[in-house]
Amino acid sequence: MAAARRLIFLGPPGSGKGTQAGRLAERLGIVQLSSGDALRRERKDGSEIGRKAAQYMDAGTLVPDEVITGVMLAAIDKLPAGTGFILDGFPRTVPQAESLKVGLAERGLSIDAVVDFQLDDAEIVRRIVERRVCVDCGATYNLSFLPPAKSGVCDKCGNEIIQRKDDREEVVRTRLETYRAQTAPLVEYYQAGGLLHSVDSSAGADAVQATVARIVGDTGD
Ligand code: AMP
Repeated sequence: MAAARRLIFLGPPGSGKGTQAGRLAERLGIVQLSSGDALRRERKDGSEIGRKAAQYMDAGTLVPDEVITGVMLAAIDKLPAGTGFILDGFPRTVPQAESLKVGLAERGLSIDAVVDFQLDDAEIVRRIVERRVCVDCGATYNLSFLPPAKSGVCDKCGNEIIQRKDDREEVVRTRLETYRAQTAPLVEYYQAGGLLHSVDSSAGADAVQATVARIVGDTGD
């Protein structure tokens, strides 16, 4: 079976979906499109989209559907024709999923599979407060189980590693509530479409990676 090439990674913040998206994208030679990274880049660039998104991001709530949908479809349009992608953190509401479906259909595309990363809230909070990210390339680390080789320095690009403002515990709680209220309904949405695969994210990153590989038909060739 040929590996799936257009994927959605769904799951609460801190469930490991970004780490897994990065690994799988590299394995399959496809592109990871993280909505959070895209918005953080807009903020860094001081764009109007970045300014609009800032207040929501800092509060741990969702930016308006039409803003993020525009950003993500534009990112897809920038890819060379035929390039596979993993949508990481998008869609996050049912209206976003509907707009994505329409937008992809207009481009003659569709999603092959949706992987849902499941993890309970206590473990999520524990993981996120220990999460650190590179200010430049967005690579993600965990102080306990995925530390950088040199403290405070990104293995991939050598830039500084920091804690995201919204990874502090009080904001994480709001992000989790936002997830349960607005994003969790997507599980049923994609289940109904026959695309959903659930993964237990409490296993280590390598075990989760093996499960994801099986789901998407990455045979390791
Ligand atoms: P993330 O890095 O995926 O945790 O995203 C960081 C923040 O960006 C979120 O807390 C939201 O404020 C915003 N964001 C990212 N993706 C989306 C999305 N699909 N819809 C709305 N807001 C988003």
